[in-house]
Amino acid sequence: MKTTMNEVLQFVGENDVKFIRLAFCDIFGIQKNVSIMPGELPRAFESGISFDASAIRGFMNVEESDLFLVPDPATLSLLPWRPAQGRVVRLFCDIRRPDGEPFEGSTRDVLKAAIKRAADLGYVCKVGAECEFYLFEMDEHGSPTMIPHDRAGYFDLAPLDKGENVRREICLTLEEMGILPESSHHEQGPGQNEIDFKYSDALTAADELITFRSVVKAIAARNGLYASFLPKPFPDRSGSGLHINLSLQKNGLNIFRTPRDGHSGEAESFLQGILERVGEVTAFLNPLTNSYARFGSFEAPRYVTWSHQNRSQLIRVPAASGEYSRLELRSADASCNPYLAFALLLHAGLDGIEEKRVLCEPKNLNLYEASPRELAGISTLPANLGEALAEAKESAFVKRILPQKVFHQYIGQKEREFAEYVAAPDKREFERERYFE
Ligand code: GLN
Ligand code: MG
Ligand code: MG
Ligand code: MG
Repeated sequence: MKTTMNEVLQFVGENDVKFIRLAFCDIFGIQKNVSIMPGELPRAFESGISFDASAIRGFMNVEESDLFLVPDPATLSLLPWRPAQGRVVRLFCDIRRPDGEPFEGSTRDVLKAAIKRAADLGYVCKVGAECEFYLFEMDEHGSPTMIPHDRAGYFDLAPLDKGENVRREICLTLEEMGILPESSHHEQGPGQNEIDFKYSDALTAADELITFRSVVKAIAARNGLYASFLPKPFPDRSGSGLHINLSLQKNGLNIFRTPRDGHSGEAESFLQGILERVGEVTAFLNPLTNSYARFGSFEAPRYVTWSHQNRSQLIRVPAASGEYSRLELRSADASCNPYLAFALLLHAGLDGIEEKRVLCEPKNLNLYEASPRELAGISTLPANLGEALAEAKESAFVKRILPQKVFHQYIGQKEREFAEYVAAPDKREFERERYFE
């Protein structure tokens, strides 16, 4: 349901809505919001609501701090976990400068630009996310512990699986918010869960991922649990990934066909374009020092390869047909800024199409068990955040796509984070303190 401004005003008037949350993300994809009362909504649509942008990481300095939030009416969503009387709705916002010009630090605009480029070339990109997370126990003070909620494994059932009620509540809440979860299950790790979404257009998918993260946290908390998207909470257990399924439609038809039909040349070039750029964009797909501990085991990739089936690969082209044909990128994790992640992947793929890149051969082997001879010459994902940032910093591609401000702020702040990590005497303690709570 894509609402218009008048529909939003009508909904708010007729449904006892008392608080309107104007939401946006900082450049790292962390959601921020301010509540306004219904009487302010017309003004918000017309001229925006001002906020202190110097207090948002990577946005502005104090000398020049006023920016304006202008809600996007198409993103109206009720927050079902808030009270039923005096209800709360949320709208994602565009960010403008005082002169009305778009603010270049808004990463939602970066994704919109990528979508526009695709549209100009005749494509509509569809994104489906699969998101994994752990549920942890809380202690008697309500602080998260690192004790997983259960000891179940992949696809287990209750009573081993203690996450079923939380997943159920999450899925029902998402549905109430107009988001379609497609499936949910217990994952490999103890207390690890996964929820997969029906694909949608790239902007909606990114908005939905932001919403999803807050729904999971809110519902877990209501159940006395702590939900964490940390990519690798335990060194010897399954990590949490964000698998990104991408397909492209041209004239209403999916250009990713089944393996048996063969793919269209454009789909192959799109895939190759992503393979060629993935190292340069990994700092944006995997933004934490902890992200890199996930690579190379428990079905998380390490080598820059693709194949039809094998889950040790970076890109899998799963057996699926018709509208579900797609590629699945398996490296990203849920701590990324989805606007930047989807935008960079889309541009990389479109470059591949425009440059008519020829797809390399699939690697049909289990890369975890392959011999050094079989692995010779295959490139790997960056080994740590420092390497990923170095690749991004040198990348003419990333510089071309990202606004200068976003590029410099992102790389600069992440470089400082990596330096602090390197200097930290206890790495696990650093990550726990910095990322876990
Ligand atoms: N948890 C794995 C990862 O880190 C994926 C496992 C799976 O989905 N089968 O990506
Ligand atoms: Mg899955
Ligand atoms: Mg999974
Ligand atoms: Mg998957």
